[in-house]
Amino acid sequence: MLAQRISLLSGSGTATAREAATRAAATGCQIIDLAAGEVIIQPPSSVREGAIAAIKAGTNRYTDSIGLSPLRKKVAEKLSAETGLAWNAEDIVITAGAKQGLLDAALAVLDPGDEVIIIRPYWPTFPSQVLLAGARPVFVDAHAPTYIPDVDAIGGAITRHTKAIIINSPNNPTGAVYDRAILRAIGDLAINYQLWIVSDECYSSFVFTGARHESILMAYPELRSRTILVNAFSKELAITGWRLGYFAAPPEIVSATKKLQSHTTSNPNVIAQYAILHHLQVGDGRFELEMHQRLSQARNTGLLILSGLHDVTIPGAKGSFFFYLDLSSLVTSLPDRGLVRSTDDIARLLLEETGVASVAGRAFGDVNGLRLSFGAPPHLLESGLKRVVETLNRLKTTEEVAYTS
Ligand code: PLP
Repeated sequence: MLAQRISLLSGSGTATAREAATRAAATGCQIIDLAAGEVIIQPPSSVREGAIAAIKAGTNRYTDSIGLSPLRKKVAEKLSAETGLAWNAEDIVITAGAKQGLLDAALAVLDPGDEVIIIRPYWPTFPSQVLLAGARPVFVDAHAPTYIPDVDAIGGAITRHTKAIIINSPNNPTGAVYDRAILRAIGDLAINYQLWIVSDECYSSFVFTGARHESILMAYPELRSRTILVNAFSKELAITGWRLGYFAAPPEIVSATKKLQSHTTSNPNVIAQYAILHHLQVGDGRFELEMHQRLSQARNTGLLILSGLHDVTIPGAKGSFFFYLDLSSLVTSLPDRGLVRSTDDIARLLLEETGVASVAGRAFGDVNGLRLSFGAPPHLLESGLKRVVETLNRLKTTEEVAYTS
């Protein structure tokens, strides 16, 4: 018999979409994968060379549970340059990806009975980790087309049990980027109600509005004693499988995590730590710039193609690398008795008949959305999106018999 906590966990909707795509591809179908939450590109040579050098040097030992000191120092320097705030190695914890940092945060601050406010649509791991920590997720809906949450709605969800608010800007899945006003308003709530802010900024390199990413701590430095700022190299350097992230937090969180990580993973992978350290020492920023240029171009091309959609508002896609389509009016217009009646059905249709993998919004707690990644290789992205537009526009016509009768 399994522990009760396992029954609280939903499977990862994004992983399920990926698995469905892999199964379809195994049957010989040519699938264009727009479901993956990663940019398909080789990581920078400095990262690869750093890893090879570490292996050649025979690096094989445990490190400090919260990471190598020189790496923590380099990350502190990077974060200081990016945020304009002063960070030291002592403020930084190296983690096995942002995901471990977020779990550390949940385990360090939550007790059973606590509530955590999560903005919906959400990245599915947020509520799962809150549940794992024995606490209760409380959802506040952010609506299309901006997906910026309403501060009064967040305030209205606060109770005497509320312990934290999780925010994620740039956002997965919606692509929303929170501006200074919303960040400050959320910060006021955190101060007034003495809440923790967990700020997941792992898409911070991907803002396409011409502005730079603004961390909640840049907007509101006074929040520093109650904020855990989580980030990772996974997306920025296209090394999702290498598992290396970090967070910056007040001293009590850093020392709690030193204990936590020593009992969970011992330390983040040592080769990945040396690889990133090497990149931070010798990287000239060119890779990051080229990555941004590639995604910016992919976004422009994608938005142009998506502008051919009938009755679907063009997504903002201001940050991260996702187009998040609000299909509510399309779904409402579908025949009641057809086989395609929901965004789940649409995602299935796209996979099975159109050959494009996407993620239906249900994975993010939203039955109206559909997520398409623009991290796919550019030529595939273009033909994948064209097929999506064709299929969705065709669905509007009542003659969609192939799948509806
Ligand atoms: N946070 C968000 C919002 C994500 O979308 C992801 C991955 O998709 C993560 C965290 C996990 O990042 P990592 O691979 O560094 O654990």
